[in-house]
Amino acid sequence: MNQIHDPQSFQYDMRRMAGARAPRDAAVNFRGLSKTYKMDRVDVPALKGVSGSIAKAETTFITGPSGSGKSTLLNLIGLLDRPTDGVLEILGEDVTQLTDRQAADFRAQHIGFVFQSFNLIPVLSVRENVEFPLLNRKMSGAARKAKALDYLEAVGLSDYVDRRPGEISGGQRQRVAIARALVSEPTLLIADEPTANLDTRTSREIVALMDRIKAELNTSVVICTHDTDLITAGSAIINIIDGQTAKEH
Ligand code: ADP
Ligand code: MG
Repeated sequence: MNQIHDPQSFQYDMRRMAGARAPRDAAVNFRGLSKTYKMDRVDVPALKGVSGSIAKAETTFITGPSGSGKSTLLNLIGLLDRPTDGVLEILGEDVTQLTDRQAADFRAQHIGFVFQSFNLIPVLSVRENVEFPLLNRKMSGAARKAKALDYLEAVGLSDYVDRRPGEISGGQRQRVAIARALVSEPTLLIADEPTANLDTRTSREIVALMDRIKAELNTSVVICTHDTDLITAGSAIINIIDGQTAKEH
């Protein structure tokens, strides 16, 4: 491929010119990444060779219309699914080579995932939901509880820790989901349309919260959204159209 037209090297050149991070500082690098879903009768090529990177300790927005492949890309980066082809490195590790077990361990250690529909456990309290990812760690119950309460305080929910998910608002539920994603102290926080079920004001608050987390915890944040109004100043953007990288900033 001609270097000039390689979107990734172009992006790196732009970053160097701007005096920003070198490529080795990327939390995630992907090149020629593709995913084809095998259906009964047809193959659905959801990603057709996308390339790009997610800078460490910055916020990157993945944008694009519905059906363009955003969730597919996030699921690959979040190790929830496997690519059909291409290179995917997370924190310098070629994750396509990991066994399922190794991928699960890598995910538990390094990745926090926030879903559009919150995915909280309705019968557990807010605090118990946030403690959940820590259950298989060698920690005392008291230490788990203290950590969950710390992160609930960080997302502004100290007064709601004993409620059930059904007893709080949508924006508060998404804050619980963010606290749950953060409690294992991941390097990478991935959110797939985290504001799709929220009103405009709450959506902005949730994005501002994740941006603050990036600054305070040095977490690399990836947010996928079809709503370009949510993009915060200074963030990187990867635009996906019809399974391809359309434009990077
Ligand atoms: P977006 O998140 O941008 O809306 P997706 O990544 O969900 O897009 O979908 C990209 C394409 O892949 C769409 O055509 C969608 O129908 C298809 N697709 C997504 N998930 C699956 C799946 N599990 N099986 C088959 N096709 C899928
Ligand atoms: Mg999606």
